[in-house]
Amino acid sequence: MNVRIMVRYGELSTKGKNKKSFTQRLAQNVRHILQDFEQIKVNPDYDFMYITLNGAPEEVVLERLKHVFGIQSYSPIYTVEKSLEAMFQQIYALLSNMDLSDKTFKISTKRADHEFDMDTNTLNRELGAMVLDAFPQLTVKVKQPDINIKVEVRKHAVYISTQTYIGAGGLPVGTGGRGMMMLSGGIDSPVASYLALKRGLELEMVHFYSPPYTSPQSLRKTQELTKKLALYGGAIQFIEVPFTEIQETIKEKCPEAYLMTITRRFMLRVADAIRQKRDGLVILNGESMGQVASQTLHSMVVINEVTNTPILRPVVAMDKLDIIALAEKIDTFELSIQPFEDCCTVFAPPSPKTKPNLEKVRVYEERLDVDALVKRAVDGIKVYPIDVQTRFDEDVEDLL
Ligand code: ATP
Ligand code: MG
Repeated sequence: MNVRIMVRYGELSTKGKNKKSFTQRLAQNVRHILQDFEQIKVNPDYDFMYITLNGAPEEVVLERLKHVFGIQSYSPIYTVEKSLEAMFQQIYALLSNMDLSDKTFKISTKRADHEFDMDTNTLNRELGAMVLDAFPQLTVKVKQPDINIKVEVRKHAVYISTQTYIGAGGLPVGTGGRGMMMLSGGIDSPVASYLALKRGLELEMVHFYSPPYTSPQSLRKTQELTKKLALYGGAIQFIEVPFTEIQETIKEKCPEAYLMTITRRFMLRVADAIRQKRDGLVILNGESMGQVASQTLHSMVVINEVTNTPILRPVVAMDKLDIIALAEKIDTFELSIQPFEDCCTVFAPPSPKTKPNLEKVRVYEERLDVDALVKRAVDGIKVYPIDVQTRFDEDVEDLL
């Protein structure tokens, strides 16, 4: 018996001319998450995508497809020979694996091959009777049954399916262009990443790392978060930025109340320089309106002043509790609340400016060699791919 999974496209079916590149990209993403099963074939047709398992474990494939953006729903389809007995055997096998108590069902037959010796009514009746006989706990219901057993009679075979799984929705990752996500170890930026991936963006993670003020565990935590997010988008490039020199220099030369504002401006400059080098179109972060001092409108304006590059803030209007709920859903919350200092908390002044003054910021920054500091940080980046298979060194293994 050969199993195929029929995949229904999500929103992308409304994209007209671009549809082909969308479906190709979706197929590529699906092949990527199933790459350990070489026998699987993925064929993106115009209306549906078909995944032929060729013996690969169905359960595993069904589970992995859940997380792929751009899929509305999907159904396994079983191919059997054209006899009543073979059809029933397959239906029997499928129902045997389901919880049937108090369930209703119907058989919906379609017949493309009109030469076949039973018509749809006969098939519905015959198969329905056989099912009732084998599973007396079931009852027939024609309108909106719990289980709709679809039987399609084609020229060379019969296709049977009983179940439809709901997909992750969204758009295929990579169809929306590339953005640089500023990823900290906190709760918000992983959620922002998830939302951006869901709308089809390809993300590269930019993480500012300030050893020895921040520990290898804090770096590791951010890498582990990236690994969680890779489930939704495939391999993600992780960019580790050496940030110690910048933080120490700001601390030494600028007044305490402005450390946060100036540090943020540097993060943005460095992120933007990396974006340019790596052909990203936008920068993204996990800022949410009013959460902390750097996230007042006044602060955002002054921080944002260093670049014209669009900055997307996917969680800007979300309440913290809603962000947390989503973090739990995507399984990043537990990691995010691990207590490792990130580079901002270490240097955070007791009372940062919520309304920083741009003129003053400029005066303070004149004390620094901004371009050289940015250049050294950019020159010092380490880039490596992280995906769901990535294993990190053992010495900080006990992180979770
Ligand atoms: P998060 O939960 O994402 O850390 P937060 O509420 O703690 O957010 P901040 O720490 O003020 O807020 O950070 C705001 C945003 O700045 C983060 O969402 C992230 O996009 C970016 N950011 C902060 N620290 C870093 C870092 N070390 N590396 C990369 N980006 C960072
Ligand atoms: Mg943070």
